[in-house]
Amino acid sequence: MLRLPCMDKAVQLTGLTQPELVSFVETLGEPAYRGRQLFAALQHRRLRSFEEMTDLPKERRARLNEAGNASTLKIESRYVSADGTRRYLMKTHDNRPVETVFIPEERRDTICFSSQSGCPLQCTFCLTAQLGLLRNLTAGEIVEQIIVALNDAYGDGVKTPRGTNLVGMGAGEPFLNFDALLKAIRIVGDPDGLHIVPNRVTVSTAGIAPRIRELATIADRPHLAISLAAPTDELRNELMPINKKWPLDELLDACKEFEKSLKPGERFTFEYVLLKDVNDSDEQARQLANLLNRHSLRAKVNLIPHNPAEPLPYQPSSEGRVESFREILESKGVHAFVRKPRGRDILAACGQLAARSTSPVSIQQQPR
Ligand code: SAH
Repeated sequence: MLRLPCMDKAVQLTGLTQPELVSFVETLGEPAYRGRQLFAALQHRRLRSFEEMTDLPKERRARLNEAGNASTLKIESRYVSADGTRRYLMKTHDNRPVETVFIPEERRDTICFSSQSGCPLQCTFCLTAQLGLLRNLTAGEIVEQIIVALNDAYGDGVKTPRGTNLVGMGAGEPFLNFDALLKAIRIVGDPDGLHIVPNRVTVSTAGIAPRIRELATIADRPHLAISLAAPTDELRNELMPINKKWPLDELLDACKEFEKSLKPGERFTFEYVLLKDVNDSDEQARQLANLLNRHSLRAKVNLIPHNPAEPLPYQPSSEGRVESFREILESKGVHAFVRKPRGRDILAACGQLAARSTSPVSIQQQPR
């Protein structure tokens, strides 16, 4: 019998919803309950190989293994920051880098996943931009990142102690891989699987206006964050060239539309990376507040001090500058918070994901 190379024929099973997995096993002549059993093995017990699924008869496992992959990402390195943040550098079956960050926090831990390998956007302050777009990740690859991070952080298949939040703020532009993103969110929300509901998920966009409008129409949608980085089109065109396609007025109109879909108590967030002497002046703080107020947006602003990395041509603003910027926003009625950088020493912080090696390297405790 001709045997095709594994990835050409096999389905990525972590990218199937529970009903899809049931149909998948049925095409192999298995009963529906096997599909549910398999879903639980992959998504609830977080098993990454068929060998571990000892509750399935051996010859059935072999058969499933021929038709589908229980996991596809290979963990290359695992970096641990002094602040406890972990970065996983993985490779897809076709050797594309995928990075995921686990951020331990006092109340609830956060996993930051990537939606693309590399990124096609050319934001000048972000290291990922230097990779260019390698390719979109599949829904299965997005889900798998979360499985890997959970297993490593809490133990294989161990229930998360305090629940976990997800943020789509890793490499890539999630809204340029919209279908896979939404599918992954549906899969991780399944109560029989990882059970991380959309209310625990935030996706961040550089401003793909039509997708913001589309997200607003989805009933079970995640929370939204929008990366601004500049209060005027002139500066934003320079820092985030995507602005030439969807300038601020168009972007903020889409946000206004999105605002109508907010649930009571829910708010959306603007992210604003602070670059020393570029976008951090008092005048720019006033311009930003006026811009948001002009569009009567009741969003909050997260100020992110720039995470420097060679060869990015920027420096973080001083603490005093950040504080002054924040106070001006607040004085004009715009709620602003300063985000604490996490995992800078291992290039795990916002904008630092570019598949680089750093020390301290720790691959002894390889998650499977
Ligand atoms: N493409 C999406 C998601 C990835 S970026 C987006 O643009 O929103 C996640 C966040 O990191 C964005 O808010 C981005 O502006 C910010 N960021 C990028 N590079 C950064 C850097 N060097 N320092 C601090 N924040 C950065």
